[in-house]
Amino acid sequence: MNWIKKTLRFGEKIKKIIKIRATKADIENSDWTSCCKGPILKKDLEENLWVCPSCNKHHRLNPRQRFDLLFGKGNYEILKTPIPKDDPLDFVDSKPYLERLKSARKKTGMHCSMMVVKSNINNINITAIASDFDFLGASIEAAEGEAFLYASQHAIENQNPLLVITSGGGMRMQASMISLSQMPRTALAINEIKENNLPYIVLLTDPTAGGITASYAMLGDIHLAEPGALVAFAGARVIQGTVKEELPSGFQRSEYLEKTGFVDLIVERKDLRKKIGTLLSILLKKNNVISSAENETSKDSGTLTKAAS
Ligand SMILES: [Zn+2]
Repeated sequence: MNWIKKTLRFGEKIKKIIKIRATKADIENSDWTSCCKGPILKKDLEENLWVCPSCNKHHRLNPRQRFDLLFGKGNYEILKTPIPKDDPLDFVDSKPYLERLKSARKKTGMHCSMMVVKSNINNINITAIASDFDFLGASIEAAEGEAFLYASQHAIENQNPLLVITSGGGMRMQASMISLSQMPRTALAINEIKENNLPYIVLLTDPTAGGITASYAMLGDIHLAEPGALVAFAGARVIQGTVKEELPSGFQRSEYLEKTGFVDLIVERKDLRKKIGTLLSILLKKNNVISSAENETSKDSGTLTKAAS
């Protein structure tokens, strides 16, 4: 019976090891993260714009990191977006939705998953939106819809191009129809942008999925994407199960989407500022409505206000 005792002792040892494993918070607060070759210092990754020097993986960025890289550190103004009522459906699953919101706000320091800023590239004023995946997977609800509409309105009133940097898992389940209704609302806002002859540029980053892909992420005049970004509507396993066929390699990654025409251009992070600047310079030169200082406001911005209410 000696072997039984030995096995039990071994089991106890394993339990102890499991107990001292790093928690999610430990990993987030650590100086280290991991990539293809194992652990890598966050500092080293940051110096390389959060791109792995070995495999070129473009690691996820929060909106502040994104705007710092794109516009220069702190060279942008964060705009206050409208705050709708929290959780009107009183939704509870394994825990109340309000609690989930509270912890997401504490974790990210943001009120909703979208941050709206105004800044400039190549001396061209620009309104931009980026999402924080750490805020409930950057899913979309009323507050995000309001932020998107506010940014569109700001772009129209200031005759700015609108840049949207997408990421997120889709519409937020806990808000049901309120979430889904943000898809037509954002699509209508983009219509207003286009009626005002303003460029609407989308930068797809990893991961962009679900209702986000099915609405504002696919309505750009130009679709840029970071290398290797997952851009999908339904998950690959669901599709494979439905069509009962082997999916091509690299399915739903930006390189595959570029081949199939959903993405116009894949841009490395280090080149983004330059590429977006060049694109805007070309687009605005051709567009005298935007370059004219006389057109400070638009007659159509009233329609957008209606859509926002
Ligand atoms: Zn790597």
